[in-house]
Amino acid sequence: MMRAVRVEGFGEPPVIAEVPVPEPGPRDALVRVEATGVCRSDAHAWHGDDDTVRLPYTPGHEFVGIVEAVGSLVERVPVGARVTTPFVCGCGDCADCAAGRAQVCAFQQQPGFTYDGSFAEYVLITKADHNAVLVPEDIDPEGAALLGCRFATSYRGLVDRALLQPGETVAVLGCGGVGLSAVMIAAALGARVVAVDIAPAALELAAQSGADAVLDISGMADAETVAALRSHGPAVVVEALGRAETLALGVRALAAGGRLVQIGLLAADPVVPMGEVVARELSVLGSHGMAAADYPRLLELMRSGGLRPARLVTRRVTLAEAPAALMALGSGGAPAGVTMVAPGTLGA
Ligand SMILES: [Zn+2]
Ligand SMILES: [Zn+2]
Repeated sequence: MMRAVRVEGFGEPPVIAEVPVPEPGPRDALVRVEATGVCRSDAHAWHGDDDTVRLPYTPGHEFVGIVEAVGSLVERVPVGARVTTPFVCGCGDCADCAAGRAQVCAFQQQPGFTYDGSFAEYVLITKADHNAVLVPEDIDPEGAALLGCRFATSYRGLVDRALLQPGETVAVLGCGGVGLSAVMIAAALGARVVAVDIAPAALELAAQSGADAVLDISGMADAETVAALRSHGPAVVVEALGRAETLALGVRALAAGGRLVQIGLLAADPVVPMGEVVARELSVLGSHGMAAADYPRLLELMRSGGLRPARLVTRRVTLAEAPAALMALGSGGAPAGVTMVAPGTLGA
């Protein structure tokens, strides 16, 4: 048996419970969780906004840990290795997975959503040969955990979707965990970064994470915000909040020919100002994590020193404190930066 955070009803306080340690299938790996991030998409699912989630369940999808056991068909993932995984685990068998697009696999599994996640002492990585990312010795483990969702999604959004070039201006709307990841990555890639939020503490973290300018839009009318952003001429806007109003504002703020990357999860399908998209030849793009096969570029950016995800960790809590941390994120009462749960050794 093991301890795990259990959600028994959407929006109800999660509890700590004793549950069976999950049994790896022939192609799966069982991982002892060392650290796991508390992400806005956990709060999203806890609220009942994700129709892939079945009650009761264990949240958590952004983790690092040590391989404890593997199924009989696993070849590439040794017991004892430190691993992380993208929150989207591809099936490993379909045409999209074969083409390196596991992040959009139609048969994907997601820890913390489609099966029990990492707010627990142990979690599974499905199809481990395809989805486990071996974490090298010289990579900070907490930083590696954050690659699982927020850093991978931001990286893919900026690099592979928006095709960001050094010297371009990027405006990041919303400086929660995923927004700060985008700030840090864009800065590491040589872009000029404008960070936008209404919380001074979040903007201060954004400045420390490499933002060249910060914009506090509290109390500003939308037209005023658009004008302020346009004065920076953003070639790329990252919507990192998941709000229809922010998406519309981001589209209007883009320079002509600009690209908007939607990274924040949206609870409903918003109206996009398509008139603007047509008249000024804008692109509206999505990013949904990143395949495990694409992680080496991100690990290299960490190794070269340009990217230090663990700097965003402002708070470390125990498993018993994880329910409160999750609920705080859902209510907007969470502190700036990233909260890390450490069921195992790191930060305990
Ligand atoms: Zn697949
Ligand atoms: Zn996430």
